[in-house]
Amino acid sequence: MMDYPLLVSQFLERANTFSPNKEIVTREATGTHRYTYADLMLRASRLSNALAGLGVGVGDRVGTFGWNTYRHLEAYFAVPVMGAVIHTINIRLSADDLVYIINHAGDKVILVDPDLAAILEPLAPRLESVKHFIIMTDDQNFATSLPSAHNYEDLLSGASDVYSPIKLDENSPAGLCYTSATTGRPKGVVYSHRGLVLHSMMEAQVDIVGFRERDVVLAIVPMFHANCWGSVYSATMVGAKQVLTGVRPDPEAICTLIDSEKVTLSLGVPTIWTAVLDYLERSGKTYDFSSLREIASGGSAVPISMIQKYKEKLGVDLVHAYGMTEATPLISYNRLRSQLDGISEGEKLQLAGSQGVMAPGLEMRLVDDEGNDLPWDGEQRGELLFKGPWIADGYYNDSRSDETFIDGWYHSGDIASVDPNGYIQIGDRVKDMVKSGGEWISSVDLETAIIAHPGVLEAAVIAIPHDTWVERPLACVVANVESQGKLQKDEVLDFIRDKFASWWIPDDVVFIDEIPKTSVGKFDKKVLRERYRDYKSGS
Ligand code: ADP
Repeated sequence: MMDYPLLVSQFLERANTFSPNKEIVTREATGTHRYTYADLMLRASRLSNALAGLGVGVGDRVGTFGWNTYRHLEAYFAVPVMGAVIHTINIRLSADDLVYIINHAGDKVILVDPDLAAILEPLAPRLESVKHFIIMTDDQNFATSLPSAHNYEDLLSGASDVYSPIKLDENSPAGLCYTSATTGRPKGVVYSHRGLVLHSMMEAQVDIVGFRERDVVLAIVPMFHANCWGSVYSATMVGAKQVLTGVRPDPEAICTLIDSEKVTLSLGVPTIWTAVLDYLERSGKTYDFSSLREIASGGSAVPISMIQKYKEKLGVDLVHAYGMTEATPLISYNRLRSQLDGISEGEKLQLAGSQGVMAPGLEMRLVDDEGNDLPWDGEQRGELLFKGPWIADGYYNDSRSDETFIDGWYHSGDIASVDPNGYIQIGDRVKDMVKSGGEWISSVDLETAIIAHPGVLEAAVIAIPHDTWVERPLACVVANVESQGKLQKDEVLDFIRDKFASWWIPDDVVFIDEIPKTSVGKFDKKVLRERYRDYKSGS
């Protein structure tokens, strides 16, 4: 075979050749911005040339601090095509974490959305490596105290649109993304060109997400989270129409885009899909979702009850995806395998709540505390370990790598069982498990059961300290709009009592207005654990 490098530039070149007129739509404050892959090619080329003019060279890091927009998309291509590394910065990190990751990455230039400039302005004196800021706007009058700030459109209009990709080794870095900090400082994951290309080739397979040329793809997942789940590169690779959510997308904006742009495939975390359902119920508005062939939901467990509601109320398949920043991010996707065609509808629904089967190209192990392999019997739980061409082999310049990458395996920290057909069932993250009297209780299993109660919108189960049992589960529950003020603790507990051993049943239920969310929209159990640190049952 030819020794042929796999490079991100190939995605852009293919879209430009085979789908030059396919649309890329961005939601704006008033209306939408529309252009094509041919425009993307020209403008990404201008951006590469403009960045080169600012001194960016092979291997340099270029940060982005923005929403999902066409300018951010341009950076997704312009930066790797010129051999530099795109560092997608999570706009919701704390000030100290932002300073830490920008300095740690050594970003030379940062592209900033205008409405986010105010976040970086006070931090600028602490950013050691940044030489230029580029404000992603055409507003000539936009004022900022960021030093050495350039207007994006000015820079592009002064730059050549000649496309001149750098021929690189496929193992060269193309992207850099930090995990959102749950404990300690965020950790950086470097994506190679090869890893990104192989990840998209895998993701586009029909047994996985199956990106196709006919798709209209709406990523709700932010471009700064976990390589946007690969959707930017996979959608471009196949030449699909892309719809970008713009500044602060809310459920109304999401519903409007699905309806008006005839979206066929959308991707986002379960909290978004809960918020969309809640919005539809509260507003009483109706939208046409009939174009949607499926929604990929991942990042945290999708309750079966939600999969059921989407099917029954909206006629939409919510499909479970599982992965992490360290895996570019996709590990598995939940499609029904042919050997299971005969199972009942109830069993199919149950299975849809699992995280699906590992994608081709990866290797997986399930191990106990001592590192011994456990059988895939659907019963025994252990930690999942992975290896493969789009799995990181360490954190970027980080001594903490040795705790997670051991003997060539990435230790995910996810506790799961695997059934004989290979379907993964995540029980919990190690740090979210409740250890009661030395026995593990899965918070996710309890949450999933509680959320199935018709009066519950969201539920998070956390460990609270206990004198005898060390830890006991506490259920933090958000009632839905009809049940607010009416739902009783016992109703919630009685609803799940026959599904678990008695010692699994939470000691108490607290009703709260909202579950705190992390910067990427997952339940922030750290905040709840802190809030209920001294909680005594029944108080
Ligand atoms: P962060 O660590 O900042 O939350 P990631 O997106 O990388 O960002 O998180 C990956 C973790 O999210 C996984 O290790 C797993 O614990 C959890 N996760 C991702 N997808 C799912 C899913 N479908 N079901 C359950 N947990 C999931």
